[in-house]
Amino acid sequence: MEKVIIVGGGQTAMNAAMSMRQSDFEGSIVIVGEEETLPYERPPLSKEWLKSDVEPNVPLVCRRDILEDRHITFQGGAVVTSISPEKHQIALSSGQLLDYDALLLSTGGRARPLPIEGAEYANCLRTLADARALRAKLHSQPHVTCIGAGVIGLETAATARELGCEVTVIDPAAQPMSRCLTSEGTAFVENIHRSAGVDLRLGVKPVAIRPDDNALLVTCDDGTSVRTGCVIGGIGIVRNTELASAAGLEVRTGIVVDEYGRTSSPDIYAAGDVAEFYFPPAQKHLIRESWRHAQNHGIAVGAAMVGMAQPYSDLQWFWTDQHGVRIEVGGSLDQIDRTYRRETPKGGFILFHFRRGKFVGYTAANARADGRFAEKLLSTNTTPDPQTLEDMQIPLKTLL
Ligand code: NAP
Repeated sequence: MEKVIIVGGGQTAMNAAMSMRQSDFEGSIVIVGEEETLPYERPPLSKEWLKSDVEPNVPLVCRRDILEDRHITFQGGAVVTSISPEKHQIALSSGQLLDYDALLLSTGGRARPLPIEGAEYANCLRTLADARALRAKLHSQPHVTCIGAGVIGLETAATARELGCEVTVIDPAAQPMSRCLTSEGTAFVENIHRSAGVDLRLGVKPVAIRPDDNALLVTCDDGTSVRTGCVIGGIGIVRNTELASAAGLEVRTGIVVDEYGRTSSPDIYAAGDVAEFYFPPAQKHLIRESWRHAQNHGIAVGAAMVGMAQPYSDLQWFWTDQHGVRIEVGGSLDQIDRTYRRETPKGGFILFHFRRGKFVGYTAANARADGRFAEKLLSTNTTPDPQTLEDMQIPLKTLL
């Protein structure tokens, strides 16, 4: 095999390319990305990047000189219009055709547009360009409204509060971050936002955004409204699966791949947010949207593409920073039936989640060291005695 093309210039792409080189692949690697910028890290975009008085540097995944050193070509500002699996070729909007021996689709997702009247007045936050536009508004508007109490809505709400803005968050769900936390976790998150002065309107559906003098008016289905200077829509992503569908690949919620990242079409792989991957520990296909998944799935699939295949079995893990609290979640929170809580000396806590007597996942708040031990327990498939987990006097490291 001589030629690899990676479509989609994000974190998954970059990690896959590096992983191929680390697996001693010496052929050509071309990353084709729609944005001009080299692949960059998204986590800072909703936090320190928004907050900073002066525009910070772009948080690149990898510097240009390192890419050059590894002979990885980045072709930015290039839109792929089609894939021909038969010819092993992709077409760009410029008319250029590129041949591949193996193709990786790491096309990620885009911000889901608000399905309401006046959606065009809302900002979203997915790309560097989005972050630039939003940063300008957060630094000039006294009131912002986040639609969606997911990670984007809540991280930007926290950042906006730190900048001194009044903040309203609106979500039809009864709890914030209900997709990814247990009820104890959502209650904790609700509390830190209310304590920080965020006007959290849960169980309320926004129905329209309309211009109102020099501001915007967000109206809701309960008859209330919010006058605001800036609306941020954070209601999830739409996966960029269109190229894969048009090429005849199997697509469900994401592009369907096996545990090595192989799609239904020979020599075409998919990884990261866009992939619906088979996960051997759960014996089913999963979708994940997190920084660590983008990194580790990229690494695993990149290696598999150049002959170093290992089934992908990385545990779920993500973190979020809100109002000075770092929340980490590891493992699986599905169908848990018992939770044990451990306080930490510095005022944090960690929740150990059990399913049918087995330790399967954790939620940590300002408890990074404990979180690391919990991860070790999960990765070694260890289920400690719940009483020892709750006892602050027993160091977690003695349980390994
Ligand atoms: P998200 O975490 O999926 O949250 C979306 C929220 O919007 C949910 O609470 C959802 O409620 C709500 N929602 C859905 N439809 C709505 C509507 N019409 N009006 C109001 N609320 C509505 O998505 P996100 O916050 O937009 O984040 C987008 C992506 O960025 C995700 O892939 C996420 O993982 C990633 N990201 C990750 C981090 C991190 O890991 N720290 C930080 C930022 C972004 P329901 O659940 O009830 O539908």
